[in-house]
Amino acid sequence: MEVSIFIAQIMENFEIHKFGGTTTGSLQGLKRIAEIVEQSQNIPVLVVSAIAGMTDLLTEIVENISEELIPHYVEAIIAKHNELSPRNLKLNKQFLKKVDQLRRVLYGICYTQELSGTLRDLVLSFGEQLVVFVIADVLEEHVTERSIHIIYPEDMLVTNGDVGRALIDLEKSAPRLQEKIKHILHSHTNPVIVIPGFYGVSEEGKITLFGRSGTDYSASAIANLLDSSFLTIWKDVSGFMSVDPRIVPEAIRIPELSYEEASELSHFGAKILHHRAVLPAREKGIPILIRNIQNPEKMTIIQKQATIRAGQIIKSITLMKGMAILKFYNTSGGSEKGIFFQLAKSVASCGIEIISIATSQTCISFLVRKAELEPNLKTIETQIKNIVDDIQIKSDVALIACVGEQLASTPGIAYKVFGAVSSRDVNVEMISAGASSTALHFTVNEDDVEQAVNAIHSAFMKTNEPFLKIHGK
Ligand code: ADP
Ligand code: ASP
Ligand code: MG
Repeated sequence: MEVSIFIAQIMENFEIHKFGGTTTGSLQGLKRIAEIVEQSQNIPVLVVSAIAGMTDLLTEIVENISEELIPHYVEAIIAKHNELSPRNLKLNKQFLKKVDQLRRVLYGICYTQELSGTLRDLVLSFGEQLVVFVIADVLEEHVTERSIHIIYPEDMLVTNGDVGRALIDLEKSAPRLQEKIKHILHSHTNPVIVIPGFYGVSEEGKITLFGRSGTDYSASAIANLLDSSFLTIWKDVSGFMSVDPRIVPEAIRIPELSYEEASELSHFGAKILHHRAVLPAREKGIPILIRNIQNPEKMTIIQKQATIRAGQIIKSITLMKGMAILKFYNTSGGSEKGIFFQLAKSVASCGIEIISIATSQTCISFLVRKAELEPNLKTIETQIKNIVDDIQIKSDVALIACVGEQLASTPGIAYKVFGAVSSRDVNVEMISAGASSTALHFTVNEDDVEQAVNAIHSAFMKTNEPFLKIHGK
Protein backbone atom coordinates (compact mmCIF):
# COMPACT_ATOMS: atom_id res chain seq x y z
CA MET A 1 0.00 0.00 0.00
CA GLU A 2 1.28 3.47 -0.87
CA VAL A 3 2.41 5.43 2.15
CA SER A 4 0.23 8.40 1.24
CA ILE A 5 -2.87 6.20 0.95
CA PHE A 6 -2.14 4.62 4.30
CA ILE A 7 -1.76 7.99 5.97
CA ALA A 8 -5.05 9.19 4.53
CA GLN A 9 -6.73 6.12 6.00
CA ILE A 10 -5.51 6.32 9.57
CA MET A 11 -5.90 10.03 10.13
CA GLU A 12 -8.29 10.97 12.86
CA ASN A 13 -8.74 14.39 14.36
CA PHE A 14 -5.24 15.35 15.41
CA GLU A 15 -2.08 15.01 13.41
CA ILE A 16 1.02 15.36 15.56
CA HIS A 17 4.11 16.57 13.70
CA LYS A 18 7.49 17.05 15.28
CA PHE A 19 9.90 19.44 13.57
CA GLY A 20 13.52 19.53 14.73
CA GLY A 21 16.05 22.35 14.64
CA THR A 22 17.30 21.60 11.14
CA THR A 23 13.76 22.18 9.84
CA THR A 24 12.79 25.19 11.98
CA GLY A 25 16.22 26.73 11.38
CA SER A 26 16.09 26.96 7.56
CA LEU A 27 13.86 28.86 5.13
CA GLN A 28 13.43 25.69 3.10
CA GLY A 29 12.38 23.75 6.21
CA LEU A 30 9.91 26.46 7.28
CA LYS A 31 8.36 26.40 3.81
CA ARG A 32 7.81 22.64 4.18
CA ILE A 33 6.14 23.18 7.57
CA ALA A 34 3.65 25.55 5.92
CA GLU A 35 3.03 23.05 3.09
CA ILE A 36 2.42 20.20 5.52
CA VAL A 37 -0.10 22.32 7.46
CA GLU A 38 -1.80 23.39 4.22
CA GLN A 39 -2.16 19.78 3.07
CA SER A 40 -3.59 18.63 6.38
CA GLN A 41 -7.25 17.59 6.38
CA ASN A 42 -7.31 17.52 10.20
CA ILE A 43 -6.07 19.54 13.12
CA PRO A 44 -2.29 19.78 12.86
CA VAL A 45 -0.41 19.94 16.16
CA LEU A 46 3.19 21.04 15.59
CA VAL A 47 5.73 20.28 18.30
CA VAL A 48 8.82 22.30 17.52
CA SER A 49 12.50 22.54 18.48
CA ALA A 50 14.65 25.62 18.73
CA ILE A 51 16.32 26.68 15.49
CA ALA A 52 19.50 24.68 14.81
CA GLY A 53 22.40 25.89 16.93
CA MET A 54 20.25 27.93 19.35
CA THR A 55 20.44 25.51 22.30
CA ASP A 56 24.21 25.33 21.78
CA LEU A 57 24.38 29.14 21.72
CA LEU A 58 22.35 29.42 24.94
CA THR A 59 24.63 26.83 26.56
CA GLU A 60 27.64 28.88 25.50
CA ILE A 61 26.04 32.00 26.96
CA VAL A 62 25.39 30.51 30.40
CA GLU A 63 28.88 29.05 30.48
CA ASN A 64 30.64 32.31 29.52
CA ILE A 65 28.31 34.81 31.06
CA SER A 66 29.57 38.38 31.50
CA GLU A 67 27.81 41.71 31.69
CA GLU A 68 29.53 43.08 28.57
CA LEU A 69 28.63 40.06 26.43
CA ILE A 70 24.91 39.88 27.25
CA PRO A 71 23.79 42.66 24.83
CA HIS A 72 25.75 41.08 21.96
CA TYR A 73 24.36 37.65 22.61
CA VAL A 74 20.81 38.96 22.89
CA GLU A 75 21.19 40.91 19.63
CA ALA A 76 22.50 37.76 17.92
CA ILE A 77 19.47 35.79 19.15
CA ILE A 78 17.04 38.44 17.87
CA ALA A 79 18.84 38.60 14.51
CA LYS A 80 18.86 34.80 14.03
CA HIS A 81 15.10 34.57 14.59
CA ASN A 82 14.35 37.65 12.53
CA GLU A 83 16.30 36.30 9.54
CA LEU A 84 13.94 33.35 9.38
CA SER A 85 10.69 35.16 9.96
CA PRO A 86 8.68 36.53 7.01
CA ARG A 87 7.55 39.40 9.29
CA ASN A 88 9.65 41.84 11.26
CA LEU A 89 9.99 40.28 14.71
CA LYS A 90 11.54 43.50 16.00
CA LEU A 91 8.02 44.93 15.80
CA ASN A 92 6.42 41.99 17.59
CA LYS A 93 5.77 43.09 21.17
CA GLN A 94 5.23 39.56 22.50
CA PHE A 95 8.51 38.38 20.97
CA LEU A 96 10.40 41.36 22.40
CA LYS A 97 8.83 40.75 25.80
CA LYS A 98 10.07 37.15 25.75
CA VAL A 99 13.56 38.28 24.73
CA ASP A 100 13.47 40.78 27.56
CA GLN A 101 12.65 38.00 30.03
CA LEU A 102 15.71 36.11 28.81
CA ARG A 103 17.85 39.24 29.10
CA ARG A 104 16.73 39.77 32.70
CA VAL A 105 17.43 36.15 33.64
CA LEU A 106 20.93 36.47 32.15
CA TYR A 107 21.69 39.66 34.09
CA GLY A 108 20.36 37.96 37.21
CA ILE A 109 22.81 35.08 36.78
CA CYS A 110 25.59 37.53 36.08
CA TYR A 111 25.02 39.67 39.18
CA THR A 112 24.44 36.79 41.59
CA GLN A 113 27.14 34.57 40.04
CA GLU A 114 24.78 31.71 40.80
CA LEU A 115 23.90 29.23 38.13
CA SER A 116 21.69 26.49 39.53
CA GLY A 117 20.51 23.59 37.40
CA THR A 118 17.03 25.09 37.45
CA LEU A 119 18.25 28.43 36.07
CA ARG A 120 20.26 26.65 33.40
CA ASP A 121 17.15 24.71 32.33
CA LEU A 122 15.21 27.97 32.20
CA VAL A 123 17.78 29.71 29.97
CA LEU A 124 18.09 26.75 27.60
CA SER A 125 14.31 26.54 27.20
CA PHE A 126 14.26 29.99 25.55
CA GLY A 127 15.32 28.43 22.22
CA GLU A 128 11.95 26.66 22.10
CA GLN A 129 10.06 29.58 23.69
CA LEU A 130 11.27 31.90 20.92
CA VAL A 131 11.05 29.66 17.86
CA VAL A 132 7.24 29.56 18.10
CA PHE A 133 7.14 33.24 17.06
CA VAL A 134 8.91 32.38 13.81
CA ILE A 135 6.58 29.42 13.18
CA ALA A 136 3.51 31.56 13.90
CA ASP A 137 4.69 34.23 11.43
CA VAL A 138 5.38 31.63 8.74
CA LEU A 139 1.91 30.12 9.22
CA GLU A 140 0.19 33.50 9.27
CA GLU A 141 1.90 34.39 6.03
CA HIS A 142 1.27 31.13 4.16
CA VAL A 143 -1.72 29.39 5.73
CA THR A 144 -4.35 32.10 5.83
CA GLU A 145 -7.37 29.81 6.26
CA ARG A 146 -6.32 28.52 9.70
CA SER A 147 -6.25 30.24 13.08
CA ILE A 148 -2.91 29.81 14.88
CA HIS A 149 -2.73 28.89 18.57
CA ILE A 150 0.36 28.43 20.70
CA ILE A 151 0.04 26.17 23.74
CA TYR A 152 2.97 26.53 26.13
CA PRO A 153 4.23 23.54 28.15
CA GLU A 154 4.07 25.85 31.20
CA ASP A 155 0.30 25.48 30.99
CA MET A 156 -0.03 21.73 30.60
CA LEU A 157 3.08 19.52 30.54
CA VAL A 158 3.76 18.40 34.12
CA THR A 159 7.15 16.84 34.90
CA ASN A 160 8.67 15.05 37.89
CA GLY A 161 10.95 18.09 38.35
CA ASP A 162 14.27 16.33 37.63
CA VAL A 163 16.57 19.10 36.42
CA GLY A 164 17.98 18.54 32.92
CA ARG A 165 16.38 15.15 32.44
CA ALA A 166 12.77 15.37 33.58
CA LEU A 167 10.09 12.79 32.98
CA ILE A 168 6.60 13.78 31.86
CA ASP A 169 3.70 12.88 34.14
CA LEU A 170 1.17 11.86 31.51
CA GLU A 171 -1.68 11.39 33.93
CA LYS A 172 -1.40 14.90 35.38
CA SER A 173 -0.77 16.50 31.99
CA ALA A 174 -3.70 14.91 30.12
CA PRO A 175 -6.59 16.95 31.59
CA ARG A 176 -4.61 20.21 31.30
CA LEU A 177 -3.84 19.73 27.61
CA GLN A 178 -7.34 18.51 26.84
CA GLU A 179 -8.78 21.57 28.56
CA LYS A 180 -6.60 23.91 26.48
CA ILE A 181 -7.59 22.13 23.28
CA LYS A 182 -11.27 22.12 24.17
CA HIS A 183 -11.08 25.85 24.70
CA ILE A 184 -9.54 26.39 21.26
CA LEU A 185 -11.98 24.07 19.49
CA HIS A 186 -14.91 25.76 21.19
CA SER A 187 -14.38 28.97 19.25
CA HIS A 188 -12.33 27.96 16.17
CA THR A 189 -13.23 25.49 13.45
CA ASN A 190 -9.94 25.34 11.60
CA PRO A 191 -7.07 25.72 14.02
CA VAL A 192 -3.39 24.81 13.87
CA ILE A 193 -1.70 24.31 17.24
CA VAL A 194 1.97 25.01 17.91
CA ILE A 195 3.73 23.65 21.02
CA PRO A 196 7.35 24.35 22.00
CA GLY A 197 9.20 21.08 22.71
CA PHE A 198 12.12 20.22 25.02
CA TYR A 199 10.62 21.24 28.37
CA GLY A 200 7.76 20.96 30.80
CA VAL A 201 7.14 22.32 34.30
CA SER A 202 7.43 20.71 37.69
CA GLU A 203 4.43 20.82 40.02
CA GLU A 204 6.05 23.86 41.64
CA GLY A 205 5.97 25.57 38.24
CA LYS A 206 9.72 25.37 37.49
CA ILE A 207 10.78 24.76 33.89
CA THR A 208 12.59 21.43 33.53
CA LEU A 209 14.24 20.10 30.37
CA PHE A 210 14.02 16.59 28.93
CA GLY A 211 17.66 16.44 27.84
CA ARG A 212 19.15 17.16 24.43
CA SER A 213 16.86 16.30 21.51
CA GLY A 214 14.00 16.29 24.03
CA THR A 215 11.41 17.57 21.53
CA ASP A 216 11.09 14.00 20.18
CA TYR A 217 9.96 13.02 23.68
CA SER A 218 7.60 16.03 23.96
CA ALA A 219 5.97 15.07 20.65
CA SER A 220 5.55 11.44 21.68
CA ALA A 221 3.94 12.58 24.94
CA ILE A 222 1.56 14.93 23.09
CA ALA A 223 0.60 12.07 20.74
CA ASN A 224 -0.14 9.94 23.81
CA LEU A 225 -2.14 12.68 25.52
CA LEU A 226 -4.25 13.31 22.43
CA ASP A 227 -4.48 9.60 21.63
CA SER A 228 -3.54 10.34 18.04
CA SER A 229 -3.48 7.64 15.37
CA PHE A 230 0.18 8.17 14.64
CA LEU A 231 3.07 10.53 15.24
CA THR A 232 5.27 11.93 12.50
CA ILE A 233 8.82 12.95 13.36
CA TRP A 234 10.28 14.91 10.47
CA LYS A 235 14.05 14.70 10.01
CA ASP A 236 16.71 15.60 7.47
CA VAL A 237 17.36 11.88 6.85
CA SER A 238 15.12 9.25 5.25
CA GLY A 239 14.33 7.50 8.51
CA PHE A 240 16.25 5.35 10.96
CA MET A 241 19.38 4.08 9.28
CA SER A 242 21.41 0.94 9.92
CA VAL A 243 24.07 3.15 11.52
CA ASP A 244 24.83 6.88 11.87
CA PRO A 245 25.38 7.89 8.22
CA ARG A 246 28.03 10.37 9.33
CA ILE A 247 30.14 7.43 10.50
CA VAL A 248 29.33 4.85 7.84
CA PRO A 249 28.27 6.54 4.58
CA GLU A 250 26.98 3.17 3.27
CA ALA A 251 24.28 3.20 5.97
CA ILE A 252 20.94 1.93 4.69
CA ARG A 253 17.42 2.89 5.71
CA ILE A 254 15.50 0.51 7.97
CA PRO A 255 11.87 0.51 6.80
CA GLU A 256 10.46 -0.97 10.02
CA LEU A 257 11.49 -1.19 13.64
CA SER A 258 9.62 -2.57 16.61
CA TYR A 259 9.17 -0.33 19.68
CA GLU A 260 11.61 -2.61 21.47
CA GLU A 261 14.30 -2.19 18.81
CA ALA A 262 13.86 1.58 18.59
CA SER A 263 13.96 1.90 22.41
CA GLU A 264 17.20 -0.07 22.63
CA LEU A 265 18.76 1.91 19.78
CA SER A 266 17.89 5.26 21.31
CA HIS A 267 18.94 4.11 24.80
CA PHE A 268 22.33 3.14 23.38
CA GLY A 269 22.89 6.49 21.71
CA ALA A 270 21.27 6.51 18.25
CA LYS A 271 21.36 10.28 17.82
CA ILE A 272 18.32 10.40 15.60
CA LEU A 273 15.85 9.83 18.47
CA HIS A 274 15.73 11.03 22.08
CA HIS A 275 16.27 8.06 24.40
CA ARG A 276 12.75 8.29 25.85
CA ALA A 277 10.89 9.20 22.68
CA VAL A 278 9.44 5.77 22.06
CA LEU A 279 7.88 5.25 25.49
CA PRO A 280 4.75 7.47 25.51
CA ALA A 281 3.74 6.46 21.97
CA ARG A 282 4.37 2.81 22.77
CA GLU A 283 2.12 2.99 25.82
CA LYS A 284 -0.85 3.69 23.53
CA GLY A 285 0.37 1.62 20.56
CA ILE A 286 0.77 4.74 18.41
CA PRO A 287 2.96 4.14 15.33
CA ILE A 288 5.87 6.59 14.97
CA LEU A 289 6.81 7.57 11.43
CA ILE A 290 10.27 9.02 10.91
CA ARG A 291 10.10 10.83 7.58
CA ASN A 292 12.43 12.87 5.45
CA ILE A 293 11.13 16.45 5.35
CA GLN A 294 12.34 16.93 1.77
CA ASN A 295 11.42 13.44 0.58
CA PRO A 296 8.37 12.35 2.62
CA GLU A 297 7.83 8.98 0.93
CA LYS A 298 11.07 7.78 2.53
CA MET A 299 10.45 6.74 6.11
CA THR A 300 10.86 4.32 8.97
CA ILE A 301 7.83 3.02 10.83
CA ILE A 302 8.21 2.21 14.49
CA GLN A 303 5.37 0.07 15.81
CA LYS A 304 4.48 -3.03 17.80
CA GLN A 305 5.61 -5.56 15.26
CA ALA A 306 8.27 -5.20 12.60
CA THR A 307 8.95 -7.54 9.75
CA ILE A 308 12.10 -9.56 10.16
CA ARG A 309 13.91 -10.54 6.99
CA ALA A 310 15.71 -13.87 6.90
CA GLY A 311 19.43 -13.27 7.33
CA GLN A 312 18.98 -9.70 8.59
CA ILE A 313 18.87 -10.20 12.33
CA ILE A 314 20.93 -7.13 13.24
CA LYS A 315 19.02 -4.14 11.98
CA SER A 316 21.05 -1.26 13.32
CA ILE A 317 24.28 -0.46 15.14
CA THR A 318 24.81 2.49 17.48
CA LEU A 319 27.79 3.86 19.29
CA MET A 320 28.36 6.15 22.25
CA LYS A 321 31.67 7.89 22.78
CA GLY A 322 32.87 9.59 25.96
CA MET A 323 32.16 6.63 28.21
CA ALA A 324 34.07 5.32 31.23
CA ILE A 325 34.04 2.01 33.09
CA LEU A 326 33.86 2.40 36.84
CA LYS A 327 35.24 -0.79 38.42
CA PHE A 328 34.67 -1.64 42.07
CA TYR A 329 36.89 -4.42 43.42
CA ASN A 330 35.91 -6.38 46.48
CA THR A 331 37.53 -9.67 47.38
CA SER A 332 34.46 -10.96 49.16
CA GLY A 333 32.44 -9.89 46.11
CA GLY A 334 29.06 -11.53 45.67
CA SER A 335 28.95 -12.81 49.26
CA GLU A 336 28.66 -9.27 50.66
CA LYS A 337 24.93 -8.67 51.00
CA GLY A 338 23.54 -5.46 49.50
CA ILE A 339 26.87 -4.28 48.07
CA PHE A 340 25.44 -3.89 44.61
CA PHE A 341 22.57 -1.78 45.91
CA GLN A 342 24.91 0.49 47.87
CA LEU A 343 27.20 1.06 44.87
CA ALA A 344 24.31 1.78 42.53
CA LYS A 345 22.75 4.11 45.12
CA SER A 346 25.95 6.09 45.52
CA VAL A 347 26.42 6.49 41.76
CA ALA A 348 22.77 7.36 41.13
CA SER A 349 22.70 9.89 43.98
CA CYS A 350 25.36 11.89 42.10
CA GLY A 351 23.03 12.09 39.08
CA ILE A 352 25.08 9.61 37.07
CA GLU A 353 23.16 7.36 34.73
CA ILE A 354 24.32 3.74 34.69
CA ILE A 355 24.19 2.70 31.05
CA SER A 356 25.25 -0.91 31.59
CA ILE A 357 26.49 -3.28 34.30
CA ALA A 358 28.79 -6.29 34.36
CA THR A 359 29.62 -8.30 37.47
CA SER A 360 31.99 -11.06 38.54
CA GLN A 361 32.87 -12.57 41.91
CA THR A 362 35.44 -9.85 42.65
CA CYS A 363 34.46 -6.90 40.49
CA ILE A 364 31.34 -4.90 39.71
CA SER A 365 31.64 -2.65 36.65
CA PHE A 366 29.33 0.22 35.73
CA LEU A 367 29.43 1.80 32.31
CA VAL A 368 28.78 5.53 32.69
CA ARG A 369 29.37 8.81 30.87
CA LYS A 370 32.84 10.19 31.57
CA ALA A 371 31.53 13.76 31.81
CA GLU A 372 29.03 12.72 34.51
CA LEU A 373 31.59 10.66 36.44
CA GLU A 374 34.55 13.02 36.62
CA PRO A 375 33.07 15.77 38.81
CA ASN A 376 31.56 13.18 41.17
CA LEU A 377 34.37 10.69 41.56
CA LYS A 378 35.60 12.05 44.89
CA THR A 379 32.08 11.92 46.39
CA ILE A 380 31.60 8.32 45.29
CA GLU A 381 35.00 7.32 46.69
CA THR A 382 34.14 8.86 50.05
CA GLN A 383 30.69 7.28 50.16
CA ILE A 384 31.79 3.72 49.46
CA LYS A 385 35.33 3.54 50.81
CA ASN A 386 34.29 1.09 53.53
CA ILE A 387 32.60 -1.40 51.27
CA VAL A 388 35.11 -1.88 48.43
CA ASP A 389 38.84 -2.63 48.39
CA ASP A 390 39.69 -0.61 45.32
CA ILE A 391 38.13 1.55 42.60
CA GLN A 392 39.55 1.80 39.11
CA ILE A 393 38.44 3.86 36.17
CA LYS A 394 38.92 3.02 32.53
CA SER A 395 38.35 6.18 30.52
CA ASP A 396 38.20 6.83 26.79
CA VAL A 397 35.90 3.95 26.16
CA ALA A 398 33.13 3.74 23.59
CA LEU A 399 30.04 1.57 23.61
CA ILE A 400 28.77 -0.29 20.56
CA ALA A 401 25.28 -1.78 20.52
CA CYS A 402 23.87 -4.13 17.90
CA VAL A 403 20.08 -4.29 17.85
CA GLY A 404 17.50 -6.59 16.28
CA GLU A 405 14.56 -8.66 17.52
CA GLN A 406 15.50 -12.33 17.79
CA LEU A 407 19.17 -11.44 18.10
CA ALA A 408 19.49 -13.41 21.32
CA SER A 409 17.73 -16.49 19.99
CA THR A 410 19.68 -16.71 16.73
CA PRO A 411 22.83 -18.83 16.92
CA GLY A 412 26.14 -17.42 15.71
CA ILE A 413 25.37 -13.68 15.99
CA ALA A 414 27.90 -12.92 18.74
CA TYR A 415 30.51 -15.03 16.95
CA LYS A 416 30.00 -13.01 13.75
CA VAL A 417 30.01 -9.63 15.56
CA PHE A 418 33.19 -10.30 17.51
CA GLY A 419 34.79 -11.95 14.47
CA ALA A 420 34.21 -8.75 12.48
CA VAL A 421 35.62 -6.60 15.29
CA SER A 422 38.73 -8.74 15.82
CA SER A 423 39.38 -8.79 12.06
CA ARG A 424 40.34 -5.12 12.52
CA ASP A 425 42.55 -5.92 15.54
CA VAL A 426 40.17 -4.17 17.92
CA ASN A 427 39.96 -5.38 21.49
CA VAL A 428 36.58 -5.86 23.18
CA GLU A 429 36.31 -5.20 26.92
CA MET A 430 33.00 -5.13 28.75
CA ILE A 431 30.31 -7.29 27.15
CA SER A 432 26.64 -7.43 28.00
CA ALA A 433 24.22 -9.78 26.30
CA GLY A 434 21.06 -11.44 27.48
CA ALA A 435 19.59 -8.58 29.52
CA SER A 436 17.56 -7.72 26.46
CA SER A 437 16.64 -10.26 23.79
CA THR A 438 16.98 -7.42 21.29
CA ALA A 439 20.39 -5.87 22.03
CA LEU A 440 23.99 -6.99 22.35
CA HIS A 441 26.42 -4.36 23.55
CA PHE A 442 30.08 -4.10 24.43
CA THR A 443 32.87 -1.56 24.79
CA VAL A 444 36.06 -0.88 22.83
CA ASN A 445 38.72 1.83 23.06
CA GLU A 446 37.32 5.12 21.83
CA ASP A 447 39.96 5.39 19.09
CA ASP A 448 38.89 2.06 17.62
CA VAL A 449 35.14 2.55 17.61
CA GLU A 450 34.67 3.76 14.01
CA GLN A 451 36.76 0.84 12.68
CA ALA A 452 34.75 -1.65 14.71
CA VAL A 453 31.38 -0.23 13.69
CA ASN A 454 32.38 -0.23 10.01
CA ALA A 455 33.49 -3.86 10.29
CA ILE A 456 30.20 -4.99 11.86
CA HIS A 457 28.19 -3.00 9.35
CA SER A 458 29.87 -4.62 6.36
CA ALA A 459 29.49 -8.06 7.92
CA PHE A 460 25.73 -7.75 8.49
CA MET A 461 24.01 -5.21 6.27
CA LYS A 462 22.37 -6.04 3.00
CA THR A 463 20.88 -3.35 0.83
CA ASN A 464 17.56 -4.77 -0.42
CA GLU A 465 14.72 -3.53 1.74
CA PRO A 466 11.86 -5.66 2.97
CA PHE A 467 8.29 -4.98 1.90
CA LEU A 468 6.73 -2.23 3.98
CA LYS A 469 3.84 -3.37 6.14
CA ILE A 470 2.03 -0.98 8.45
CA HIS A 471 0.02 -2.54 11.23
CA GLY A 472 -1.54 0.64 12.68
CA LYS A 473 -2.71 1.03 16.27
P1 ADP B 1 16.52 17.10 14.59
O1 ADP B 1 17.32 17.93 15.56
O2 ADP B 1 16.12 17.83 13.34
O3 ADP B 1 15.39 16.42 15.24
P2 ADP B 1 18.81 15.43 14.67
O4 ADP B 1 19.92 16.20 14.02
O5 ADP B 1 18.76 15.38 16.15
O6 ADP B 1 17.45 15.93 14.08
O7 ADP B 1 18.81 13.93 14.13
C1 ADP B 1 19.03 13.64 12.76
C2 ADP B 1 20.49 13.27 12.54
O8 ADP B 1 20.81 12.10 13.30
C3 ADP B 1 20.80 12.85 11.13
O9 ADP B 1 21.13 13.97 10.34
C4 ADP B 1 21.95 11.87 11.27
O10 ADP B 1 23.16 12.50 10.98
C5 ADP B 1 21.96 11.49 12.74
N1 ADP B 1 21.89 10.06 12.99
C6 ADP B 1 22.60 9.40 13.96
N2 ADP B 1 22.30 8.10 13.97
C7 ADP B 1 21.37 7.90 13.00
C8 ADP B 1 20.67 6.74 12.52
N3 ADP B 1 20.85 5.54 13.03
N4 ADP B 1 19.80 6.93 11.52
C9 ADP B 1 19.58 8.16 10.99
N5 ADP B 1 20.22 9.28 11.37
C10 ADP B 1 21.12 9.16 12.36
N1 ASP C 1 16.70 22.30 21.19
C1 ASP C 1 16.97 21.13 21.99
C2 ASP C 1 18.31 20.54 21.58
O1 ASP C 1 18.98 21.11 20.74
C3 ASP C 1 15.87 20.12 21.94
C4 ASP C 1 15.62 19.47 20.60
O2 ASP C 1 16.21 19.89 19.60
O3 ASP C 1 14.83 18.52 20.54
O4 ASP C 1 18.70 19.54 22.12
MG1 MG D 1 17.98 17.02 17.57
